Amino acid sequence: MRYDFECIACGARVDPEDRPAECPDCGGPLEVAFDAGALPDALPESDRTDLWRYASFLPAEEVSPVPMGEGWTPLADA
Ligand SMILES: [Zn+2]
Repeated sequence: MRYDFECIACGARVDPEDRPAECPDCGGPLEVAFDAGALPDALPESDRTDLWRYASFLPAEEVSPVPMGEGWTPLADA
């Protein structure tokens, strides 16, 4: 999924390939901006139990997951 960074303060769009830490125009914080209409309607079938189960919803085009044993959060009686 294609995404940009958008400045929360001034609305400037910044190419994430430039790996900016802040808005180059005003120094404001950046957030990920993407076309929510391009998201899939449902989760694809997956046996994964980690974050990468949701990869098709994440604003990342090519990822190489490095799982660290994380998974479903169990419900426990308290
Ligand atoms: Zn800005």
